[in-house]
Amino acid sequence: MVLNELGSRINTALQNLSKEAAIDSKAVDALLMEICKALLESDINVKLVHQLRTNVKKSIDLDQLASSANKRRVIQNAVFEELCNLVDPGVEQWKPKKGKSNVIMFVGLQGNGKTTTCTKLAAHYHRKGWKTGLVCADTFRAGAFDQIRQNSSKAHIPYYGRQVYSEVDPVKVASEGVKKFKKDKYEIIIVDTSGRHKQETELFKEMEEISAGVNPDNVVFVMDGTIGQAADAQARAFKESVDIGSIIITKMDGHAKGGGAISAVAATKSPIVFIGTGEHIYDLERFAPRPFVSKMLG
Ligand code: GDP
Repeated sequence: MVLNELGSRINTALQNLSKEAAIDSKAVDALLMEICKALLESDINVKLVHQLRTNVKKSIDLDQLASSANKRRVIQNAVFEELCNLVDPGVEQWKPKKGKSNVIMFVGLQGNGKTTTCTKLAAHYHRKGWKTGLVCADTFRAGAFDQIRQNSSKAHIPYYGRQVYSEVDPVKVASEGVKKFKKDKYEIIIVDTSGRHKQETELFKEMEEISAGVNPDNVVFVMDGTIGQAADAQARAFKESVDIGSIIITKMDGHAKGGGAISAVAATKSPIVFIGTGEHIYDLERFAPRPFVSKMLG
């Protein structure tokens, strides 16, 4: 189900409610059941949907609702607020500090848009006047280094990496790159990593080793906004191997479902900081819960 379909399903359920003669606990239950069905079909995790239903029910005062002029609006607002709570873990966003080298490590599965987003974030800081460098420690995917090289050159951002002509140790490349940029007093050092390995366990071991090697100030989990129910397991797996501090959801320009983003927040207890809205280097927008949920509900 695409985002605006979710909104129209919820709106239809609310419209049906207004036809009910008496709005009692049974009518609210039936409405919430319908809304929860729509949320589940939008790939929001079962446990979170259950939590939302409980919280919405708790927040609605039936007596007040009975005398309220706009019953639909009261319930709609309660659902809206709960969805906002689900995409906002209430944690302060990590911010780089001036006068030091801030190391940002990116993690995420191949194809999620990690390399593209590394360059987007580097361009974002570069534009704001931070001395920014990119390290390509994705030694697994053949084209990753060329992609970083081309995009960085276009955006005038220095990069560090090696062509994968032979077996290259990603931990060594990451550590060398970070060391070089630190020595040159770079303020933002972004480290791109591999998204997939021969075995998943090897990938997570590699993430642990790179993290130990570069000692990041912030780990960004990059997740494709279209992956839906797979988001929960994916976010959990990365959270177990590295200390995720921020999330970026990519491909929000397409028919993205909102559920994955909500699952990623719940699994990592980390805030979404940006959303990717296209393939271009400047297609990166600051995330804000309320506009995101408004868009979700159409
Ligand atoms: P990686 O394997 O995770 O490093 O993924 P890439 O950065 O190579 O991206 C995979 C594909 O997704 C590429 O074709 C990117 O152009 C595309 N992509 C990345 N971010 C976005 C986005 O926000 N919107 C759209 N439409 N495409 C994106």
